[in-house]
Amino acid sequence: MNRLLGDERDQKLTIAGEVLGRQELMARAAGVAGRISGAGCVAVNATASADTVVAVVGALLAGVPVVPLPPDSGIGERRHILGDSGAELLLGTDDLGLPAVPVTGTGDGSFTEPPAGATGLILYTSGTTGPPKGVLISRGAIAAGLDALAEAWAWTPEDRVVHGLPLFHVHGLVLGVLGALRAGSELVHTGRPTPEAYAAARGSLYFGVPTVWSRLASSAVAGELRGARLLVSGSAPLPAPVFAELEARTGHRPVERYGMTETLITISARHDGERLPACVGLPLRGVETRLVHEDGSPAPRDGETPGELVVRAPMIFNGYLNRPEATAEALRDGWFHTGDIATVDAGGRHRIVGRASTDLIKSGGYKIGAGEVENALLAHPAVREAAVLGTPHPDLGEQVTAFVIADGVSAADLISHVGTTLSAHKRPRTVHFVDALPRNALGKVQKKLLRS
Ligand code: ATP
Ligand code: MG
Repeated sequence: MNRLLGDERDQKLTIAGEVLGRQELMARAAGVAGRISGAGCVAVNATASADTVVAVVGALLAGVPVVPLPPDSGIGERRHILGDSGAELLLGTDDLGLPAVPVTGTGDGSFTEPPAGATGLILYTSGTTGPPKGVLISRGAIAAGLDALAEAWAWTPEDRVVHGLPLFHVHGLVLGVLGALRAGSELVHTGRPTPEAYAAARGSLYFGVPTVWSRLASSAVAGELRGARLLVSGSAPLPAPVFAELEARTGHRPVERYGMTETLITISARHDGERLPACVGLPLRGVETRLVHEDGSPAPRDGETPGELVVRAPMIFNGYLNRPEATAEALRDGWFHTGDIATVDAGGRHRIVGRASTDLIKSGGYKIGAGEVENALLAHPAVREAAVLGTPHPDLGEQVTAFVIADGVSAADLISHVGTTLSAHKRPRTVHFVDALPRNALGKVQKKLLRS
Protein backbone atom coordinates (compact mmCIF):
# COMPACT_ATOMS: atom_id res chain seq x y z
CA MET A 1 0.00 0.00 0.00
CA ASN A 2 1.16 3.50 -0.76
CA ARG A 3 -0.33 6.15 1.51
CA LEU A 4 0.01 9.16 -0.78
CA LEU A 5 -1.76 7.37 -3.60
CA GLY A 6 -4.53 5.94 -1.44
CA ASP A 7 -5.53 2.37 -0.75
CA GLU A 8 -5.20 -0.47 -3.21
CA ARG A 9 -8.61 -0.94 -4.76
CA ASP A 10 -10.24 -1.68 -8.06
CA GLN A 11 -9.91 1.49 -10.02
CA LYS A 12 -10.11 2.31 -13.69
CA LEU A 13 -8.26 5.14 -15.39
CA THR A 14 -8.90 6.08 -18.99
CA ILE A 15 -6.29 8.52 -20.24
CA ALA A 16 -6.82 9.86 -23.75
CA GLY A 17 -8.48 6.60 -24.76
CA GLU A 18 -6.00 4.22 -23.08
CA VAL A 19 -7.51 2.18 -20.26
CA LEU A 20 -5.41 1.28 -17.22
CA GLY A 21 -6.56 -0.71 -14.21
CA ARG A 22 -5.07 0.36 -10.89
CA GLN A 23 -3.06 -2.85 -10.61
CA GLU A 24 -1.64 -2.48 -14.09
CA LEU A 25 -0.78 1.15 -13.38
CA MET A 26 1.02 0.18 -10.18
CA ALA A 27 2.91 -2.68 -11.85
CA ARG A 28 4.11 -0.40 -14.64
CA ALA A 29 4.93 2.34 -12.15
CA ALA A 30 6.93 -0.15 -10.08
CA GLY A 31 8.93 -0.91 -13.23
CA VAL A 32 9.74 2.78 -13.63
CA ALA A 33 10.52 3.12 -9.92
CA GLY A 34 13.01 0.24 -10.07
CA ARG A 35 14.79 1.89 -13.00
CA ILE A 36 15.18 5.31 -11.37
CA SER A 37 15.74 4.55 -7.70
CA GLY A 38 18.56 6.64 -6.31
CA ALA A 39 18.18 9.42 -8.91
CA GLY A 40 18.05 12.98 -7.58
CA CYS A 41 15.32 14.29 -9.86
CA VAL A 42 13.63 13.04 -13.02
CA ALA A 43 11.64 14.79 -15.74
CA VAL A 44 8.73 13.55 -17.77
CA ASN A 45 7.50 14.83 -21.09
CA ALA A 46 3.97 15.40 -19.79
CA THR A 47 1.77 14.64 -22.77
CA ALA A 48 -1.87 13.84 -22.02
CA SER A 49 -1.22 10.09 -21.98
CA ALA A 50 -1.19 6.99 -19.81
CA ASP A 51 2.63 7.01 -20.07
CA THR A 52 2.75 10.34 -18.23
CA VAL A 53 0.61 8.96 -15.40
CA VAL A 54 2.77 5.82 -15.18
CA ALA A 55 5.94 7.94 -15.10
CA VAL A 56 4.73 10.32 -12.40
CA VAL A 57 3.35 7.51 -10.22
CA GLY A 58 6.61 5.59 -10.73
CA ALA A 59 8.66 8.54 -9.49
CA LEU A 60 6.34 8.98 -6.48
CA LEU A 61 6.73 5.27 -5.66
CA ALA A 62 10.51 5.53 -5.87
CA GLY A 63 10.55 8.72 -3.82
CA VAL A 64 12.33 10.61 -6.60
CA PRO A 65 11.13 14.19 -7.19
CA VAL A 66 9.59 14.49 -10.63
CA VAL A 67 9.21 17.53 -12.85
CA PRO A 68 6.63 17.34 -15.64
CA LEU A 69 7.61 19.29 -18.78
CA PRO A 70 4.98 21.03 -20.87
CA PRO A 71 5.04 18.89 -24.02
CA ASP A 72 4.16 21.54 -26.55
CA SER A 73 5.96 24.59 -25.22
CA GLY A 74 8.96 25.92 -27.09
CA ILE A 75 12.24 24.10 -26.73
CA GLY A 76 13.55 27.15 -24.84
CA GLU A 77 11.02 26.79 -22.02
CA ARG A 78 11.66 23.06 -21.77
CA ARG A 79 15.41 23.63 -21.60
CA HIS A 80 14.90 26.32 -18.93
CA ILE A 81 12.90 23.89 -16.80
CA LEU A 82 15.32 21.02 -17.34
CA GLY A 83 18.35 23.15 -16.52
CA ASP A 84 16.73 24.80 -13.51
CA SER A 85 15.40 21.55 -12.04
CA GLY A 86 18.63 19.63 -12.53
CA ALA A 87 16.68 16.58 -13.75
CA GLU A 88 19.09 13.75 -14.57
CA LEU A 89 16.80 11.43 -16.47
CA LEU A 90 13.84 11.80 -18.74
CA LEU A 91 11.02 9.29 -18.42
CA GLY A 92 9.65 8.30 -21.79
CA THR A 93 10.90 9.44 -25.13
CA ASP A 94 13.36 12.29 -25.17
CA ASP A 95 14.23 15.02 -27.60
CA LEU A 96 16.38 17.01 -25.24
CA GLY A 97 19.56 15.02 -24.94
CA LEU A 98 18.94 13.55 -21.47
CA PRO A 99 19.29 9.81 -20.82
CA ALA A 100 15.82 8.37 -21.45
CA VAL A 101 14.20 5.74 -19.21
CA PRO A 102 11.47 3.57 -20.74
CA VAL A 103 8.04 3.59 -19.10
CA THR A 104 6.93 0.35 -20.68
CA GLY A 105 7.22 -3.03 -18.94
CA THR A 106 6.42 -3.83 -15.35
CA GLY A 107 8.17 -4.38 -12.04
CA ASP A 108 7.23 -5.79 -8.68
CA GLY A 109 9.60 -4.16 -6.22
CA SER A 110 8.22 -2.90 -2.94
CA PHE A 111 9.05 0.65 -1.98
CA THR A 112 9.23 2.41 1.34
CA GLU A 113 7.07 5.51 1.56
CA PRO A 114 9.31 8.59 1.95
CA PRO A 115 8.59 11.05 4.78
CA ALA A 116 5.78 13.58 4.35
CA GLY A 117 8.23 16.48 4.14
CA ALA A 118 10.07 15.00 1.15
CA THR A 119 9.57 16.69 -2.22
CA GLY A 120 7.15 14.74 -4.40
CA LEU A 121 6.67 17.09 -7.32
CA ILE A 122 8.50 20.04 -8.77
CA LEU A 123 5.89 22.00 -10.70
CA TYR A 124 6.56 25.21 -12.58
CA THR A 125 4.23 28.18 -12.23
CA SER A 126 2.36 29.29 -15.32
CA GLY A 127 4.69 32.21 -16.01
CA THR A 128 1.89 34.75 -16.08
CA THR A 129 3.88 37.47 -14.31
CA GLY A 130 7.46 36.46 -15.11
CA PRO A 131 9.55 33.40 -15.97
CA PRO A 132 8.02 30.17 -14.58
CA LYS A 133 9.32 29.41 -11.08
CA GLY A 134 10.05 25.88 -9.86
CA VAL A 135 7.88 25.03 -6.85
CA LEU A 136 8.90 22.27 -4.41
CA ILE A 137 5.74 20.45 -3.38
CA SER A 138 6.03 17.95 -0.55
CA ARG A 139 4.18 14.68 -0.41
CA GLY A 140 2.52 15.83 2.80
CA ALA A 141 1.24 18.99 1.10
CA ILE A 142 -0.27 16.95 -1.71
CA ALA A 143 -1.96 14.58 0.75
CA ALA A 144 -3.29 17.43 2.92
CA GLY A 145 -4.46 19.40 -0.11
CA LEU A 146 -6.31 16.47 -1.61
CA ASP A 147 -7.93 15.46 1.67
CA ALA A 148 -9.21 18.99 2.24
CA LEU A 149 -10.75 18.98 -1.25
CA ALA A 150 -12.27 15.54 -0.70
CA GLU A 151 -13.99 16.94 2.37
CA ALA A 152 -15.20 20.14 0.67
CA TRP A 153 -16.46 18.39 -2.44
CA ALA A 154 -17.59 15.09 -0.82
CA TRP A 155 -15.19 13.37 -3.23
CA THR A 156 -15.39 9.57 -2.83
CA PRO A 157 -14.61 6.28 -4.63
CA GLU A 158 -18.13 6.49 -6.09
CA ASP A 159 -17.10 9.51 -8.16
CA ARG A 160 -16.17 9.39 -11.79
CA VAL A 161 -13.73 12.25 -12.35
CA VAL A 162 -13.67 13.77 -15.84
CA HIS A 163 -11.37 16.42 -17.27
CA GLY A 164 -9.07 17.05 -20.21
CA LEU A 165 -6.53 19.36 -18.61
CA PRO A 166 -2.75 19.50 -19.15
CA LEU A 167 -0.79 17.12 -16.91
CA PHE A 168 2.02 19.52 -15.98
CA HIS A 169 0.18 21.85 -13.58
CA VAL A 170 -1.61 21.45 -10.26
CA HIS A 171 -5.07 21.42 -11.79
CA GLY A 172 -4.70 18.49 -14.20
CA LEU A 173 -1.98 16.53 -12.43
CA VAL A 174 -2.48 16.98 -8.68
CA LEU A 175 -6.27 17.30 -8.62
CA GLY A 176 -7.05 15.51 -11.83
CA VAL A 177 -4.77 12.46 -11.48
CA LEU A 178 -3.36 12.17 -7.94
CA GLY A 179 -6.72 13.29 -6.54
CA ALA A 180 -8.54 10.51 -8.34
CA LEU A 181 -5.93 7.96 -7.22
CA ARG A 182 -6.03 9.08 -3.58
CA ALA A 183 -9.82 9.19 -3.49
CA GLY A 184 -10.11 5.89 -5.33
CA SER A 185 -12.37 7.40 -8.00
CA GLU A 186 -12.61 6.33 -11.59
CA LEU A 187 -10.82 8.77 -13.89
CA VAL A 188 -11.54 9.73 -17.48
CA HIS A 189 -9.03 12.11 -19.04
CA THR A 190 -10.63 13.15 -22.30
CA GLY A 191 -7.37 13.96 -24.08
CA ARG A 192 -8.69 17.34 -25.13
CA PRO A 193 -11.21 19.31 -23.08
CA THR A 194 -13.89 19.63 -25.76
CA PRO A 195 -17.59 19.97 -24.86
CA GLU A 196 -18.36 16.80 -26.83
CA ALA A 197 -15.72 14.77 -24.97
CA TYR A 198 -16.94 16.08 -21.59
CA ALA A 199 -20.54 15.23 -22.48
CA ALA A 200 -19.66 11.74 -23.71
CA ALA A 201 -17.65 10.90 -20.58
CA ARG A 202 -20.70 10.90 -18.24
CA GLY A 203 -18.77 11.99 -15.16
CA SER A 204 -19.92 12.88 -11.68
CA LEU A 205 -17.10 15.30 -10.82
CA TYR A 206 -15.92 17.53 -13.65
CA PHE A 207 -12.89 19.83 -13.64
CA GLY A 208 -12.31 22.66 -16.08
CA VAL A 209 -10.72 26.05 -16.56
CA PRO A 210 -13.04 28.96 -17.43
CA THR A 211 -12.46 28.71 -21.19
CA VAL A 212 -13.53 25.06 -21.09
CA TRP A 213 -16.71 25.97 -19.20
CA SER A 214 -17.42 28.88 -21.49
CA ARG A 215 -17.24 26.64 -24.57
CA LEU A 216 -19.27 23.95 -22.88
CA ALA A 217 -21.98 26.34 -21.70
CA SER A 218 -22.56 27.61 -25.23
CA SER A 219 -22.36 24.18 -26.90
CA ALA A 220 -25.24 22.02 -28.08
CA VAL A 221 -24.26 19.24 -25.64
CA ALA A 222 -24.29 21.24 -22.38
CA GLY A 223 -27.50 19.52 -21.24
CA GLU A 224 -25.68 16.18 -21.18
CA LEU A 225 -23.97 17.27 -17.94
CA ARG A 226 -27.27 17.43 -16.05
CA GLY A 227 -26.55 14.03 -14.51
CA ALA A 228 -23.23 15.18 -13.03
CA ARG A 229 -22.73 15.90 -9.34
CA LEU A 230 -20.28 18.84 -9.31
CA LEU A 231 -18.79 21.06 -12.01
CA VAL A 232 -15.63 22.68 -10.66
CA SER A 233 -13.89 25.70 -12.15
CA GLY A 234 -10.49 27.17 -11.36
CA SER A 235 -7.05 28.40 -12.51
CA ALA A 236 -8.49 31.76 -13.60
CA PRO A 237 -11.62 33.79 -12.79
CA LEU A 238 -14.90 32.30 -14.04
CA PRO A 239 -16.82 35.18 -15.64
CA ALA A 240 -20.24 35.72 -14.05
CA PRO A 241 -22.08 35.36 -17.42
CA VAL A 242 -20.47 31.92 -17.91
CA PHE A 243 -21.59 30.93 -14.40
CA ALA A 244 -25.15 31.94 -15.29
CA GLU A 245 -25.13 30.20 -18.68
CA LEU A 246 -23.73 27.00 -17.16
CA GLU A 247 -26.47 26.99 -14.56
CA ALA A 248 -29.14 27.59 -17.18
CA ARG A 249 -27.85 24.90 -19.53
CA THR A 250 -26.74 22.17 -17.10
CA GLY A 251 -28.85 22.82 -14.02
CA HIS A 252 -25.68 23.08 -11.92
CA ARG A 253 -24.26 26.13 -10.24
CA PRO A 254 -20.51 25.62 -10.71
CA VAL A 255 -18.18 25.30 -7.75
CA GLU A 256 -15.38 27.85 -8.07
CA ARG A 257 -12.13 27.28 -6.25
CA TYR A 258 -8.89 29.24 -5.89
CA GLY A 259 -5.36 27.98 -5.78
CA MET A 260 -1.79 28.39 -6.88
CA THR A 261 1.12 26.14 -7.72
CA GLU A 262 2.68 27.25 -4.42
CA THR A 263 -0.34 26.53 -2.22
CA LEU A 264 -2.40 23.95 -4.11
CA ILE A 265 -6.10 24.69 -3.57
CA THR A 266 -6.82 26.70 -0.43
CA ILE A 267 -10.29 28.23 -0.96
CA SER A 268 -13.41 26.74 -2.52
CA ALA A 269 -17.15 26.74 -2.60
CA ARG A 270 -18.47 23.63 -0.85
CA HIS A 271 -20.63 20.82 -2.19
CA ASP A 272 -23.17 21.55 0.56
CA GLY A 273 -22.75 25.32 0.66
CA GLU A 274 -23.67 28.33 -1.43
CA ARG A 275 -22.11 28.81 -4.85
CA LEU A 276 -21.97 32.40 -5.98
CA PRO A 277 -20.70 33.95 -9.21
CA ALA A 278 -17.34 35.73 -8.93
CA CYS A 279 -16.79 34.17 -5.50
CA VAL A 280 -14.28 31.42 -4.67
CA GLY A 281 -15.97 30.51 -1.40
CA LEU A 282 -14.49 29.63 1.97
CA PRO A 283 -11.05 28.51 3.17
CA LEU A 284 -10.67 24.74 3.05
CA ARG A 285 -10.23 22.76 6.24
CA GLY A 286 -6.92 23.64 7.90
CA VAL A 287 -6.49 26.88 5.92
CA GLU A 288 -6.20 30.29 7.56
CA THR A 289 -6.35 33.49 5.52
CA ARG A 290 -5.43 37.10 6.17
CA LEU A 291 -6.08 40.20 4.14
CA VAL A 292 -3.40 42.88 4.33
CA HIS A 293 -2.79 46.38 3.01
CA GLU A 294 0.45 47.21 1.22
CA ASP A 295 2.03 48.36 4.51
CA GLY A 296 1.22 44.99 6.09
CA SER A 297 -1.62 46.25 8.28
CA PRO A 298 -4.82 44.17 8.28
CA ALA A 299 -7.52 45.12 5.78
CA PRO A 300 -11.11 44.93 7.06
CA ARG A 301 -13.19 41.89 6.17
CA ASP A 302 -16.07 44.01 4.99
CA GLY A 303 -16.59 42.50 1.54
CA GLU A 304 -15.42 45.72 -0.07
CA THR A 305 -11.90 46.66 0.89
CA PRO A 306 -9.33 44.89 -1.27
CA GLY A 307 -6.14 43.58 0.27
CA GLU A 308 -3.43 41.09 -0.52
CA LEU A 309 -4.46 37.56 0.32
CA VAL A 310 -2.05 35.80 2.68
CA VAL A 311 -2.51 32.13 3.57
CA ARG A 312 -1.21 29.60 6.08
CA ALA A 313 -2.04 25.99 5.41
CA PRO A 314 -0.71 22.43 5.48
CA MET A 315 -0.80 22.29 1.66
CA ILE A 316 1.76 25.05 1.15
CA PHE A 317 5.01 24.45 -0.76
CA ASN A 318 8.50 23.98 0.69
CA GLY A 319 9.94 26.91 -1.28
CA TYR A 320 10.98 27.89 -4.77
CA LEU A 321 13.77 25.90 -6.36
CA ASN A 322 17.03 27.89 -6.68
CA ARG A 323 15.31 31.11 -5.57
CA PRO A 324 15.98 31.65 -1.86
CA GLU A 325 15.21 35.39 -2.06
CA ALA A 326 11.87 34.80 -3.77
CA THR A 327 11.05 32.16 -1.14
CA ALA A 328 11.94 34.47 1.74
CA GLU A 329 9.93 37.27 0.18
CA ALA A 330 6.78 35.18 -0.35
CA LEU A 331 6.91 32.89 2.69
CA ARG A 332 7.21 34.79 5.97
CA ASP A 333 6.68 33.10 9.35
CA GLY A 334 4.77 30.32 7.67
CA TRP A 335 2.40 32.73 5.90
CA PHE A 336 2.45 32.74 2.10
CA HIS A 337 1.89 36.08 0.39
CA THR A 338 -0.07 35.17 -2.71
CA GLY A 339 0.30 38.39 -4.70
CA ASP A 340 -3.44 38.17 -5.38
CA ILE A 341 -5.85 40.88 -4.32
CA ALA A 342 -9.09 39.75 -2.70
CA THR A 343 -12.00 40.90 -0.62
CA VAL A 344 -13.45 38.89 2.24
CA ASP A 345 -16.91 39.54 3.68
CA ALA A 346 -18.26 39.00 7.17
CA GLY A 347 -19.39 35.49 6.18
CA GLY A 348 -15.83 34.57 5.14
CA ARG A 349 -16.64 34.58 1.42
CA HIS A 350 -13.50 35.24 -0.60
CA ARG A 351 -13.58 37.08 -3.91
CA ILE A 352 -10.43 37.35 -6.03
CA VAL A 353 -10.14 40.82 -7.51
CA GLY A 354 -6.92 40.26 -9.44
CA ARG A 355 -3.17 40.18 -9.10
CA ALA A 356 -1.30 42.87 -7.19
CA SER A 357 1.28 43.14 -9.97
CA THR A 358 -1.02 43.52 -12.98
CA ASP A 359 -4.58 43.91 -11.77
CA LEU A 360 -4.39 46.67 -9.22
CA ILE A 361 -4.54 49.82 -11.32
CA LYS A 362 -3.35 52.97 -9.61
CA SER A 363 -5.05 55.82 -11.39
CA GLY A 364 -5.34 59.41 -10.17
CA GLY A 365 -4.97 58.41 -6.51
CA TYR A 366 -7.51 55.59 -6.77
CA LYS A 367 -6.86 51.87 -6.62
CA ILE A 368 -9.01 50.04 -9.13
CA GLY A 369 -9.31 46.26 -9.36
CA ALA A 370 -9.10 45.13 -12.99
CA GLY A 371 -11.47 42.24 -12.27
CA GLU A 372 -14.24 44.58 -11.25
CA VAL A 373 -14.01 46.48 -14.54
CA GLU A 374 -13.76 43.20 -16.48
CA ASN A 375 -16.95 41.94 -14.86
CA ALA A 376 -18.73 45.22 -15.65
CA LEU A 377 -17.68 44.91 -19.30
CA LEU A 378 -18.72 41.25 -19.46
CA ALA A 379 -22.16 42.22 -18.20
CA HIS A 380 -22.72 43.98 -21.54
CA PRO A 381 -24.44 41.48 -23.87
CA ALA A 382 -22.15 42.30 -26.82
CA VAL A 383 -18.93 41.52 -24.89
CA ARG A 384 -17.63 37.97 -25.06
CA GLU A 385 -14.24 38.38 -23.38
CA ALA A 386 -12.53 41.25 -21.60
CA ALA A 387 -9.14 41.97 -20.09
CA VAL A 388 -8.37 45.22 -18.29
CA LEU A 389 -5.03 46.63 -17.23
CA GLY A 390 -3.33 49.84 -16.21
CA THR A 391 -1.25 51.56 -18.86
CA PRO A 392 0.98 54.60 -18.33
CA HIS A 393 -0.78 57.97 -18.30
CA PRO A 394 1.00 61.34 -17.94
CA ASP A 395 -1.35 62.81 -15.32
CA LEU A 396 -3.07 59.83 -13.73
CA GLY A 397 -0.02 57.62 -13.36
CA GLU A 398 -1.98 54.78 -14.89
CA GLN A 399 -5.18 54.74 -16.86
CA VAL A 400 -7.76 51.96 -17.18
CA THR A 401 -7.32 50.29 -20.58
CA ALA A 402 -9.62 47.53 -21.82
CA PHE A 403 -9.15 44.84 -24.45
CA VAL A 404 -12.43 43.26 -25.52
CA ILE A 405 -13.82 40.73 -27.91
CA ALA A 406 -17.19 42.20 -28.86
CA ASP A 407 -19.45 42.69 -31.87
CA GLY A 408 -21.69 45.58 -32.78
CA VAL A 409 -20.84 47.96 -29.97
CA SER A 410 -18.69 51.10 -29.85
CA ALA A 411 -15.98 52.03 -27.40
CA ALA A 412 -18.09 54.97 -26.22
CA ASP A 413 -21.05 52.65 -25.53
CA LEU A 414 -18.88 50.31 -23.47
CA ILE A 415 -17.33 53.14 -21.51
CA SER A 416 -20.75 54.55 -20.59
CA HIS A 417 -22.02 51.03 -19.83
CA VAL A 418 -19.25 50.58 -17.24
CA GLY A 419 -20.22 54.00 -15.85
CA THR A 420 -23.74 52.75 -15.15
CA THR A 421 -22.49 50.10 -12.69
CA LEU A 422 -19.18 51.47 -11.38
CA SER A 423 -17.88 54.85 -10.24
CA ALA A 424 -16.77 57.20 -12.99
CA HIS A 425 -13.04 56.84 -12.29
CA LYS A 426 -13.27 53.10 -12.99
CA ARG A 427 -14.43 53.60 -16.58
CA PRO A 428 -11.88 52.59 -19.20
CA ARG A 429 -10.27 55.53 -21.00
CA THR A 430 -9.30 53.38 -23.97
CA VAL A 431 -11.02 50.30 -25.38
CA HIS A 432 -9.19 48.09 -27.89
CA PHE A 433 -11.28 45.66 -29.93
CA VAL A 434 -9.35 42.43 -30.53
CA ASP A 435 -10.06 39.06 -32.19
CA ALA A 436 -8.50 37.02 -29.39
CA LEU A 437 -6.88 37.48 -25.98
CA PRO A 438 -3.47 35.86 -25.49
CA ARG A 439 -4.05 32.88 -23.19
CA ASN A 440 -1.81 30.06 -21.97
CA ALA A 441 -2.57 26.34 -21.74
CA LEU A 442 -4.83 26.88 -18.72
CA GLY A 443 -6.72 29.73 -20.34
CA LYS A 444 -5.07 32.45 -18.25
CA VAL A 445 -4.87 35.81 -19.99
CA GLN A 446 -1.24 36.80 -20.51
CA LYS A 447 -1.51 40.48 -19.61
CA LYS A 448 2.22 41.03 -20.03
CA LEU A 449 1.69 40.36 -23.77
CA LEU A 450 -1.16 42.89 -23.95
CA ARG A 451 1.04 45.47 -22.32
CA SER A 452 3.87 45.15 -24.83
P1 ATP B 1 3.44 33.02 -12.29
O1 ATP B 1 3.43 32.78 -10.82
O2 ATP B 1 4.58 32.33 -12.96
O3 ATP B 1 3.32 34.45 -12.68
P2 ATP B 1 0.70 32.03 -12.25
O4 ATP B 1 0.60 32.72 -10.94
O5 ATP B 1 -0.37 32.27 -13.26
O6 ATP B 1 2.13 32.31 -12.93
P3 ATP B 1 -0.21 29.47 -11.28
O7 ATP B 1 0.41 29.07 -10.00
O8 ATP B 1 -0.52 28.41 -12.26
O9 ATP B 1 0.78 30.46 -12.01
O10 ATP B 1 -1.56 30.26 -11.04
C1 ATP B 1 -1.95 30.80 -9.80
C2 ATP B 1 -2.78 32.03 -10.01
O11 ATP B 1 -3.97 31.75 -10.75
C3 ATP B 1 -3.27 32.66 -8.75
O12 ATP B 1 -2.26 33.44 -8.12
C4 ATP B 1 -4.46 33.48 -9.23
O13 ATP B 1 -4.03 34.74 -9.71
C5 ATP B 1 -4.99 32.66 -10.39
N1 ATP B 1 -6.21 31.91 -10.03
C6 ATP B 1 -6.34 30.59 -9.73
N2 ATP B 1 -7.63 30.27 -9.48
C7 ATP B 1 -8.34 31.42 -9.61
C8 ATP B 1 -9.72 31.76 -9.47
N3 ATP B 1 -10.65 30.84 -9.18
N4 ATP B 1 -10.07 33.05 -9.67
C9 ATP B 1 -9.16 34.00 -9.98
N5 ATP B 1 -7.85 33.73 -10.12
C10 ATP B 1 -7.44 32.46 -9.95
MG1 MG C 1 1.97 32.99 -9.44
